[in-house]
Amino acid sequence: MLTGKRGIVIGVANDQSIAFAVAKMLKADGADVLATCLNIKARSYVEPILSPLGIPVMTCDVEQPGALEHVIEDAVVRFGPLDFVVHSIAFAPLVDLHAPLHATSREGFLRAMDISCHSLARVAHLVAPKMQHGGTLVTMTYIGSKLAVPDYGLMGPVKAALESSVRYLASEFGARQIRVHAVSPGPIATRAASGIQNFDQLMARVESRVPLKRLVSQDEVAGLVAFLVSDRATGMTGQTIYVDAGEHSVP
Ligand code: NAD
Repeated sequence: MLTGKRGIVIGVANDQSIAFAVAKMLKADGADVLATCLNIKARSYVEPILSPLGIPVMTCDVEQPGALEHVIEDAVVRFGPLDFVVHSIAFAPLVDLHAPLHATSREGFLRAMDISCHSLARVAHLVAPKMQHGGTLVTMTYIGSKLAVPDYGLMGPVKAALESSVRYLASEFGARQIRVHAVSPGPIATRAASGIQNFDQLMARVESRVPLKRLVSQDEVAGLVAFLVSDRATGMTGQTIYVDAGEHSVP
Protein backbone atom coordinates (compact mmCIF):
# COMPACT_ATOMS: atom_id res chain seq x y z
CA MET A 1 0.00 0.00 0.00
CA LEU A 2 2.90 2.39 0.64
CA THR A 3 5.52 1.32 -1.89
CA GLY A 4 7.30 4.41 -3.16
CA LYS A 5 6.30 6.57 -0.18
CA ARG A 6 9.13 8.16 1.78
CA GLY A 7 9.09 9.99 5.03
CA ILE A 8 9.90 10.58 8.66
CA VAL A 9 8.40 9.34 11.92
CA ILE A 10 9.28 11.64 14.81
CA GLY A 11 9.14 10.42 18.40
CA VAL A 12 10.29 6.86 19.10
CA ALA A 13 11.27 6.43 22.76
CA ASN A 14 10.99 2.62 23.03
CA ASP A 15 9.08 -0.37 21.70
CA GLN A 16 5.89 0.84 23.41
CA SER A 17 5.92 4.19 21.58
CA ILE A 18 3.07 4.86 19.18
CA ALA A 19 5.80 6.14 16.83
CA PHE A 20 7.54 2.75 16.94
CA ALA A 21 4.38 0.91 15.85
CA VAL A 22 3.82 3.51 13.14
CA ALA A 23 7.38 3.35 11.79
CA LYS A 24 7.25 -0.44 11.79
CA MET A 25 3.92 -0.63 9.97
CA LEU A 26 4.76 2.02 7.37
CA LYS A 27 7.98 0.18 6.61
CA ALA A 28 6.20 -3.20 6.45
CA ASP A 29 3.68 -1.66 4.02
CA GLY A 30 6.53 -0.70 1.68
CA ALA A 31 7.50 2.86 2.68
CA ASP A 32 11.03 4.15 3.19
CA VAL A 33 11.11 5.46 6.75
CA LEU A 34 13.56 7.52 8.78
CA ALA A 35 12.72 7.60 12.49
CA THR A 36 13.83 9.99 15.20
CA CYS A 37 14.36 9.76 18.93
CA LEU A 38 15.11 12.50 21.42
CA ASN A 39 18.85 12.23 22.05
CA ILE A 40 21.94 10.01 22.06
CA LYS A 41 20.82 8.20 25.22
CA ALA A 42 17.46 7.29 23.66
CA ARG A 43 19.23 6.28 20.47
CA SER A 44 21.06 3.49 22.30
CA TYR A 45 17.66 1.90 23.06
CA VAL A 46 15.89 2.78 19.85
CA GLU A 47 18.50 1.89 17.26
CA PRO A 48 18.62 -1.81 18.24
CA ILE A 49 14.85 -2.14 17.73
CA LEU A 50 14.63 -0.14 14.49
CA SER A 51 17.83 -1.06 12.67
CA PRO A 52 16.82 -4.73 12.22
CA LEU A 53 13.67 -3.45 10.50
CA GLY A 54 15.75 -1.39 8.06
CA ILE A 55 14.71 1.89 9.64
CA PRO A 56 17.55 4.37 10.23
CA VAL A 57 17.40 6.51 13.36
CA MET A 58 18.46 10.11 13.97
CA THR A 59 18.26 12.19 17.11
CA CYS A 60 15.94 15.19 17.11
CA ASP A 61 15.14 17.41 20.06
CA VAL A 62 12.72 19.98 18.68
CA GLU A 63 13.86 22.48 21.32
CA GLN A 64 17.31 22.55 19.76
CA PRO A 65 17.70 25.14 16.98
CA GLY A 66 18.34 23.46 13.64
CA ALA A 67 17.42 19.95 14.81
CA LEU A 68 14.31 19.57 12.64
CA GLU A 69 16.09 21.17 9.69
CA HIS A 70 18.91 18.63 10.04
CA VAL A 71 16.56 15.63 10.08
CA ILE A 72 14.52 16.80 7.12
CA GLU A 73 17.64 17.58 5.05
CA ASP A 74 19.05 14.16 5.91
CA ALA A 75 15.82 12.44 4.86
CA VAL A 76 15.86 14.29 1.53
CA VAL A 77 19.47 13.25 0.89
CA ARG A 78 18.56 9.61 1.64
CA PHE A 79 15.20 9.39 -0.06
CA GLY A 80 14.66 12.39 -2.37
CA PRO A 81 11.30 14.22 -2.21
CA LEU A 82 9.27 13.30 0.86
CA ASP A 83 5.67 12.04 1.13
CA PHE A 84 4.91 12.03 4.85
CA VAL A 85 5.91 13.12 8.32
CA VAL A 86 4.34 11.58 11.41
CA HIS A 87 4.69 13.88 14.43
CA SER A 88 4.28 11.74 17.54
CA ILE A 89 5.75 13.81 20.37
CA ALA A 90 4.50 15.56 23.47
CA PHE A 91 6.09 16.98 26.57
CA ALA A 92 5.18 18.94 29.67
CA PRO A 93 7.33 19.46 32.77
CA LEU A 94 6.05 17.00 35.38
CA VAL A 95 5.43 19.67 38.01
CA ASP A 96 3.11 21.46 35.58
CA LEU A 97 1.54 18.26 34.24
CA HIS A 98 0.63 17.31 37.80
CA ALA A 99 -0.76 20.72 38.69
CA PRO A 100 -4.29 21.92 38.02
CA LEU A 101 -4.31 24.09 34.90
CA HIS A 102 -4.79 27.31 36.89
CA ALA A 103 -1.61 26.58 38.88
CA THR A 104 0.69 25.79 35.96
CA SER A 105 3.71 27.98 35.44
CA ARG A 106 3.86 30.24 32.44
CA GLU A 107 7.22 28.71 31.51
CA GLY A 108 5.91 25.15 31.77
CA PHE A 109 2.81 25.91 29.74
CA LEU A 110 4.83 27.62 27.00
CA ARG A 111 7.34 24.78 26.90
CA ALA A 112 4.58 22.18 26.57
CA MET A 113 3.00 24.26 23.82
CA ASP A 114 6.30 24.72 21.99
CA ILE A 115 7.32 21.04 21.98
CA SER A 116 3.88 19.46 21.62
CA CYS A 117 2.16 21.94 19.31
CA HIS A 118 4.27 24.63 17.64
CA SER A 119 6.79 22.00 16.54
CA LEU A 120 4.12 20.66 14.16
CA ALA A 121 3.89 24.06 12.45
CA ARG A 122 7.68 24.13 12.17
CA VAL A 123 7.68 20.63 10.66
CA ALA A 124 5.04 21.68 8.13
CA HIS A 125 6.95 24.83 7.16
CA LEU A 126 10.20 22.95 6.67
CA VAL A 127 8.89 19.84 4.94
CA ALA A 128 6.34 21.34 2.57
CA PRO A 129 9.01 22.50 0.07
CA LYS A 130 10.36 18.93 0.07
CA MET A 131 6.96 17.44 -0.79
CA GLN A 132 6.99 17.87 -4.52
CA HIS A 133 4.00 15.62 -5.24
CA GLY A 134 1.85 16.49 -2.24
CA GLY A 135 2.05 14.53 0.97
CA THR A 136 0.64 13.82 4.41
CA LEU A 137 1.36 15.20 7.87
CA VAL A 138 -0.07 13.32 10.83
CA THR A 139 0.11 14.29 14.49
CA MET A 140 -1.16 12.59 17.66
CA THR A 141 -3.79 14.17 19.88
CA TYR A 142 -6.11 13.11 22.70
CA ILE A 143 -9.77 13.68 23.54
CA GLY A 144 -8.65 15.70 26.57
CA SER A 145 -8.56 18.52 23.99
CA LYS A 146 -12.35 18.65 23.96
CA LEU A 147 -13.33 17.23 27.35
CA ALA A 148 -11.89 18.10 30.76
CA VAL A 149 -10.38 14.66 31.39
CA PRO A 150 -9.26 14.29 35.03
CA ASP A 151 -5.47 14.66 35.47
CA TYR A 152 -4.85 15.59 31.81
CA GLY A 153 -4.33 19.19 32.94
CA LEU A 154 -2.43 21.59 30.74
CA MET A 155 -2.15 19.02 27.95
CA GLY A 156 -5.87 19.56 27.25
CA PRO A 157 -5.44 23.13 26.02
CA VAL A 158 -2.18 22.15 24.28
CA LYS A 159 -3.92 19.37 22.33
CA ALA A 160 -6.81 21.74 21.53
CA ALA A 161 -4.28 24.12 19.98
CA LEU A 162 -2.68 21.19 18.15
CA GLU A 163 -6.01 20.14 16.61
CA SER A 164 -6.72 23.72 15.60
CA SER A 165 -3.23 23.94 14.08
CA VAL A 166 -4.06 20.87 12.00
CA ARG A 167 -7.08 22.65 10.53
CA TYR A 168 -5.08 25.80 9.72
CA LEU A 169 -2.14 23.88 8.26
CA ALA A 170 -4.54 21.79 6.16
CA SER A 171 -5.97 25.01 4.79
CA GLU A 172 -2.57 26.63 4.22
CA PHE A 173 -1.06 23.63 2.40
CA GLY A 174 -4.14 22.12 0.77
CA ALA A 175 -3.56 23.70 -2.65
CA ARG A 176 -0.23 21.87 -2.74
CA GLN A 177 -2.05 18.58 -2.04
CA ILE A 178 -0.41 18.34 1.38
CA ARG A 179 -2.97 16.78 3.72
CA VAL A 180 -2.82 17.28 7.48
CA HIS A 181 -4.53 15.17 10.15
CA ALA A 182 -4.63 14.61 13.87
CA VAL A 183 -5.10 11.02 15.00
CA SER A 184 -6.72 10.72 18.42
CA PRO A 185 -6.02 7.40 20.14
CA GLY A 186 -7.60 6.22 23.34
CA PRO A 187 -5.30 5.72 26.33
CA ILE A 188 -2.31 3.42 25.77
CA ALA A 189 0.37 2.59 28.35
CA THR A 190 3.49 4.36 27.05
CA ARG A 191 6.27 6.34 28.63
CA ALA A 192 4.55 9.67 27.95
CA ALA A 193 1.30 8.34 29.41
CA SER A 194 3.09 7.18 32.55
CA GLY A 195 3.66 10.85 33.41
CA ILE A 196 -0.09 11.41 33.73
CA GLN A 197 -1.32 10.89 37.28
CA ASN A 198 -3.78 8.02 37.87
CA PHE A 199 -3.34 6.81 34.29
CA ASP A 200 -4.17 3.23 35.30
CA GLN A 201 -7.51 4.41 36.64
CA LEU A 202 -8.14 6.34 33.44
CA MET A 203 -7.49 3.21 31.38
CA ALA A 204 -9.78 1.12 33.57
CA ARG A 205 -12.55 3.75 33.39
CA VAL A 206 -12.27 3.99 29.61
CA GLU A 207 -12.17 0.24 29.11
CA SER A 208 -15.42 -0.30 30.96
CA ARG A 209 -17.22 2.63 29.30
CA VAL A 210 -16.31 2.53 25.60
CA PRO A 211 -18.46 0.70 23.03
CA LEU A 212 -15.76 -1.87 22.21
CA LYS A 213 -15.18 -2.60 25.94
CA ARG A 214 -11.41 -2.66 25.50
CA LEU A 215 -8.45 -0.38 24.97
CA VAL A 216 -6.82 0.21 21.59
CA SER A 217 -3.32 -0.91 20.66
CA GLN A 218 -0.40 0.94 19.12
CA ASP A 219 -0.87 -1.21 16.01
CA GLU A 220 -4.45 -0.04 15.62
CA VAL A 221 -3.21 3.55 15.69
CA ALA A 222 -0.49 2.66 13.18
CA GLY A 223 -3.09 1.11 10.86
CA LEU A 224 -4.99 4.38 10.70
CA VAL A 225 -1.79 6.33 10.05
CA ALA A 226 -0.84 3.92 7.23
CA PHE A 227 -4.23 4.54 5.62
CA LEU A 228 -3.90 8.33 5.95
CA VAL A 229 -0.43 8.29 4.39
CA SER A 230 -1.63 6.08 1.51
CA ASP A 231 -3.19 7.17 -1.76
CA ARG A 232 -6.47 5.73 -0.50
CA ALA A 233 -6.93 8.80 1.69
CA THR A 234 -6.20 11.54 -0.86
CA GLY A 235 -9.64 13.09 -0.51
CA MET A 236 -9.28 13.79 3.21
CA THR A 237 -7.61 16.60 5.11
CA GLY A 238 -7.91 18.75 8.24
CA GLN A 239 -9.51 16.10 10.42
CA THR A 240 -9.18 14.82 13.95
CA ILE A 241 -9.79 11.11 13.58
CA TYR A 242 -10.47 8.90 16.59
CA VAL A 243 -9.03 5.44 17.07
CA ASP A 244 -10.35 5.05 20.58
CA ALA A 245 -12.71 2.06 20.71
CA GLY A 246 -15.54 4.58 20.45
CA GLU A 247 -14.66 6.68 23.52
CA HIS A 248 -15.49 9.93 21.73
CA SER A 249 -19.04 8.78 21.00
CA VAL A 250 -20.29 8.04 24.51
CA PRO A 251 -20.93 10.35 27.48
P1 NAD B 1 6.20 8.10 24.05
O1 NAD B 1 6.76 8.53 25.36
O2 NAD B 1 6.60 6.79 23.52
O3 NAD B 1 6.47 9.21 22.92
C1 NAD B 1 6.58 10.58 23.22
C2 NAD B 1 7.78 11.07 22.46
O4 NAD B 1 7.89 12.50 22.57
C3 NAD B 1 9.08 10.46 22.97
O5 NAD B 1 9.77 9.81 21.92
C4 NAD B 1 9.86 11.67 23.45
O6 NAD B 1 11.25 11.57 23.29
C5 NAD B 1 9.27 12.74 22.52
N1 NAD B 1 9.67 14.09 22.93
C6 NAD B 1 9.48 14.70 24.12
N2 NAD B 1 10.09 15.91 24.11
C7 NAD B 1 10.66 16.05 22.88
C8 NAD B 1 11.44 17.06 22.27
N3 NAD B 1 11.80 18.17 22.90
N4 NAD B 1 11.86 16.87 20.99
C9 NAD B 1 11.53 15.74 20.31
N5 NAD B 1 10.81 14.74 20.86
C10 NAD B 1 10.39 14.90 22.12
O7 NAD B 1 4.59 8.18 24.25
P2 NAD B 1 3.39 8.05 23.20
O8 NAD B 1 2.19 7.78 24.02
O9 NAD B 1 3.76 7.16 22.09
O10 NAD B 1 3.24 9.55 22.67
C11 NAD B 1 3.22 9.90 21.31
C12 NAD B 1 2.10 10.90 21.04
O11 NAD B 1 0.85 10.24 21.21
C13 NAD B 1 2.09 12.11 21.96
O12 NAD B 1 1.72 13.26 21.20
C14 NAD B 1 0.96 11.78 22.92
O13 NAD B 1 0.38 12.92 23.49
C15 NAD B 1 0.01 11.10 21.96
N6 NAD B 1 -1.05 10.31 22.58
C16 NAD B 1 -0.76 9.31 23.45
C17 NAD B 1 -1.79 8.61 24.04
C18 NAD B 1 -1.50 7.53 25.04
O14 NAD B 1 -2.42 7.16 25.79
N7 NAD B 1 -0.29 7.00 25.09
C19 NAD B 1 -3.13 8.90 23.73
C20 NAD B 1 -3.40 9.92 22.83
C21 NAD B 1 -2.35 10.62 22.26
